Formats: sequence, structure tokens, C-alpha cells
Amino acid sequence: MNRLKIAAGNWKMNKNFGEGLALTQALVAGSEDTGNLMILGTPYIHLQTVGGLISNSNHIKLAAQNCHQNLKGAYTGEISISMLQSVGVEYVILGHSERRQYFDEGNALLAEKVNTVLEGGLLPIFCCGEALPIREAGTHVEFVAKQLKESLFHLSAEDFSKIVIAYEPIWAIGTGVTASPAQAQEMHQAIRALLAEKYGNEIADATSILYGGSVKPANAKDLFSQPDVDGGLVGGASLKPDDFIAIYNSF
Ligand code: PEP
Repeated sequence: MNRLKIAAGNWKMNKNFGEGLALTQALVAGSEDTGNLMILGTPYIHLQTVGGLISNSNHIKLAAQNCHQNLKGAYTGEISISMLQSVGVEYVILGHSERRQYFDEGNALLAEKVNTVLEGGLLPIFCCGEALPIREAGTHVEFVAKQLKESLFHLSAEDFSKIVIAYEPIWAIGTGVTASPAQAQEMHQAIRALLAEKYGNEIADATSILYGGSVKPANAKDLFSQPDVDGGLVGGASLKPDDFIAIYNSF
């Protein structure tokens, strides 16, 4: 299947301005357009300048890590979709487990944010994933299905076709514990089957589903070679240019 293959980096709250620019310059200099996408999810202050640095690199795109659900107004400290759009952002990461856990973002709020991002003409990278007790109880597939249904399944087929999904088991994020390729494949296959049920095979087959959780150069090839794993959402290893380039080159 000809889905987009993506290595997306999530810098989180790391890298001051100069460090972020140096990282971007190293990524631009050290990667080539392989036909696959590299996405940089930077802090807000970096977006405009990073956008300029990557403007001649067709394979590198810009992502924000969040946005507010409302279009503008008295929301001190927040950022709007039109602000992101005005500096060349193309993707917005939504529903990261850290946003869900520390900022109380639930499925209903995320449905609003998904709408806002799509209405603004940007593309959501929608994160889902279960905590360890849910995996241990064996209900992880149902849990993730509920997240997707409650935040995405109100969308029309046309809108849904713009979504990138990132499956990120919380027990594997920043812990050094990676889901095995078989565990990732099991969930990605289940997600794709759910999408096929709701939106049909064509849309399900065209949707990129990324895996996130301690992706590193040493495990990326095994993960990305699974039939339903279309790339990764990468935290820690996206902060090191050599590691992130190696991950980008792992398809
Ligand atoms: C993430 O935060 O999306 C993530 C997957 O982090 P890490 O790669 O560090 O586990």
C-alpha cells in the first residue's frame, strides 16, 4: 500500500531557541528526500524560524504540539490555529498522553480540537494509547477504539482522510521500554480494521498509523517493517540529529 511513511519528532519542552535551530540545521544537512516525510514538532517559539530553515527541503514538514480549540480571544498563554497556520505549520499533534494526563485533555475536548485544526486547513496527528494497567487487563484494543470513536468518528470521510494516527502506549513513552513489533502490529491492525468498518477499506488503507514509544535507531527498522506500522512519533531520539536521521532512514 502506498501510504505516506513518516518519522515525526516531538521535541516536547526541550531545546532553547539556538539549540533548536542547530538541531534543525543538522537534520536539513544530514537527510535526503527519500520519498518519506520527516516532521518536526517544535515548541511554538521555534516554529517560524524552523519553517524558514526547512523551506527548501521537500521532505521536512513543520508541526505544532498542540493548539487551542477556540479560534481567538481571551485565553492567556494559548495559541490559535490561525497563528500556527500563519507561520507555515502543516501538522498539529493532538491528544498526546502528556496533554491528556497533565492538562486534563479528554476525548470530547480533543474532538473539538480536531475540528478546529481541520477547519484551519491543517492536519492533525492524533495520538491514542493505553496505560499499563489497561494493557495488563487485556482491554487495550477496546480502550484505543473508544478514544478514536469519541474524538474522530464524527468526521466525514473527506475530513477523516486528512488524519494521521499515532498509537503510543503510555508505558512505552520515555521509559526505554518499546512495544514489541508484534504488539505494535496487533494494535495497528486493529485500528486499521476499525477504520475500515467505519470509513471503508480505501480510507483505512490510505491512513498513516505511526507507532510511538521509545523508538530508537536500534528498533526502528523492526517496528517500521510491520505491515501496518507506517512510521514513528519519536520523543527523546528526535532531539539527537544522528538518531533521528537514522530513524528517518529506517523504512
Ligand atoms: C512521545 O513523546 O511521543 C514519545 C514517543 O516519546 P519517546 O520516544 O521519548 O518515548
